[in-house]
Amino acid sequence: VSFETTKLISMAKVFVGDVTSEVVDSVLQFHGGWGYIEDFRIARAWRDQRLFRIGGGTSEAMRYYIAKLMGL
Ligand SMILES: Cc1cc2nc3c(=O)[nH]c(=O)nc-3n(C[C@H](O)[C@H](O)[C@H](O)COP(=O)(O)OP(=O)(O)OC[C@H]3O[C@@H](n4cnc5c(N)ncnc54)[C@H](O)[C@@H]3O)c2cc1C
Repeated sequence: VSFETTKLISMAKVFVGDVTSEVVDSVLQFHGGWGYIEDFRIARAWRDQRLFRIGGGTSEAMRYYIAKLMGL
């Protein structure tokens, strides 16, 4: 895998983590207090999407490698 491919994949991972966080958080907010209660699937979805920014390399680690691969 080339450095360019690694950079693009890292960028995609950060982007997906940020966008899913924003979308699912908005949906939870839309549900108000009920969205926070574990009985509702949105509460579980909110927690599950959080792993995007942690698992398989955190967003901070991705940003570090992106900057390095850009020669910054
Ligand atoms: C449910 C779950 C399933 C998992 N499954 C797998 C799996 O199948 N295979 C696998 O290999 N791993 C797996 N992991 C591990 C996962 O990849 C790690 O949790 C992840 O890489 C973060 O490492 P850490 O937890 O040690 O956090 P740490 O490295 O301790 O980081 C803690 C926080 O500090 C930040 N941080 C650390 N260093 C820096 C720095 N230099 N600059 C800026 N910020 C920094 C991180 O971004 C993070 O926010 C899983 C984790 C979870 C929670």
